[in-house]
Amino acid sequence: MSTIELVNPADEKPLGPVPLADADAVDEAVVRARAAQRTWARLAPADRARALRAFAGTVASHAEELAALEVANSGHPIGQARWEAGHVADVLTYYAAAPERLGGRQIPVAGGLDITFAEPIGVVGIITPWNFPMTIAAWGFAPALAAGNAVVVKPAEWTPLTTIRLGELALEAGLPEHLLQVVPGRGDVVGDRLVTHPGVGKVVFTGSTTTGAKVMAAAAPTVTNVTLELGGKSANIVFADSDLERAASTAPYGVFDNAGQDCCARSRILVQADVYERFMELLEPAVRAVAVGDPTDPATEMGPLVSRTHWEKVASYVDDDAPVAFRGSAPDGAGFWFPPTVLTPERDDRSVREEIFGPVVTVLPFTDEADAIGLANDTAYGLSGSIWTRDLSRAVRVSRAVEAGNLSVNSHASVRYATPFGGFKQSGIGRELGPDAPDAFTETKNVYFAIEEEPA
Ligand code: NAD
Repeated sequence: MSTIELVNPADEKPLGPVPLADADAVDEAVVRARAAQRTWARLAPADRARALRAFAGTVASHAEELAALEVANSGHPIGQARWEAGHVADVLTYYAAAPERLGGRQIPVAGGLDITFAEPIGVVGIITPWNFPMTIAAWGFAPALAAGNAVVVKPAEWTPLTTIRLGELALEAGLPEHLLQVVPGRGDVVGDRLVTHPGVGKVVFTGSTTTGAKVMAAAAPTVTNVTLELGGKSANIVFADSDLERAASTAPYGVFDNAGQDCCARSRILVQADVYERFMELLEPAVRAVAVGDPTDPATEMGPLVSRTHWEKVASYVDDDAPVAFRGSAPDGAGFWFPPTVLTPERDDRSVREEIFGPVVTVLPFTDEADAIGLANDTAYGLSGSIWTRDLSRAVRVSRAVEAGNLSVNSHASVRYATPFGGFKQSGIGRELGPDAPDAFTETKNVYFAIEEEPA
């Protein structure tokens, strides 16, 4: 079996090899998962709920270990990694309530009784990206398991450690064997096999739009159901009537969170021309104040990029001619460090169009509300965004007009486990999280029970 050598992105020290599975390992995992799923689906809903609560408790009691693992493998600042581990436990707890609430419907019809059942799909494949390994895995597996499915997860090549550990913790918590399996491997081998395997009934893919399109095409021959959570190029729209101090002081958190390796990063700041200069004066000290450095230090706000390859991609947007307005700091020496960077490019610049997925933000002025909406929507993506204004009517108008799945007004919050999450346009298909997430892991079956004889 081949292996991949992982390194700590903060100091480039080796973390050891992780085995890369092959396509046969996927086939075996799917067969085992199907057997486990049949037993799991027959359990009383209360027992499935109890098992998921136990899993949540085990994750919570290992939160510090999971957080430390994510710091080492992904370079996330420890404060953020602790939040992520707690979030996984919260997501499991939230969906532990679902098995006992996933009812079908009884619909009035003539001559009989008509019932819809929410049947589990069977085996669900989950393919995750490297930016938020454990939270994104949990967004898929928690509602999928709650709805009576078994799950096979393929983590991203460079960041598999917390997902592998979550698979072990599921067993320690008493979840049936093979119900939640983690198969680390290459995307074009293990990922592709998961998508094309006829025994996998549903795939949740989170990653780039380019790979998402490949996954959708690969799923077509078997007509496999897909949920796609893809890239973003979200706008942070700042109107002249906003609380400008707050809009400027929070803007770095809207984009530099996780070193900008966040699908919801507000990577295009759009500022009304009347207040553009003042906004930039306020933004500069806020960017310079971002604490970039040792991810194990609780005071750190931003860590390194995930890999050398990714560093090179991000750096390609900040060449010698790039219109850099100002930059924050980053450590020298080993590690994939990149300082928070603010660009003031033209509207059609590559940095405005493409998802950079690093700590690089563009700032563009706009004239009026229509111009702001036009600019915000002038992208193939539609994941997230922020609107800063004190005018309630404008907040409602603009939030209805922006083509994106998750918007926040006078805030940069995007993710809450209790509310739906997902993208418009090329940012994806389907929604995760929120009360309806288990529905995405069920097939609706309608059964008509004849009570009276059918009329001739
Ligand atoms: P990626 O598309 O390169 O890889 C994602 C996953 O797909 C990895 O596990 C990879 O191994 C696998 N993969 C690669 N080729 C495959 C194939 N042919 N078949 C099946 N699987 C395959 O993405 P990435 O670089 O890991 O992640 C960054 C991207 O993810 C960004 O575009 C970001 O916006 C997006 N993202 C989106 C969300 C969201 O919820 N919308 C959340 C996080 C990240």
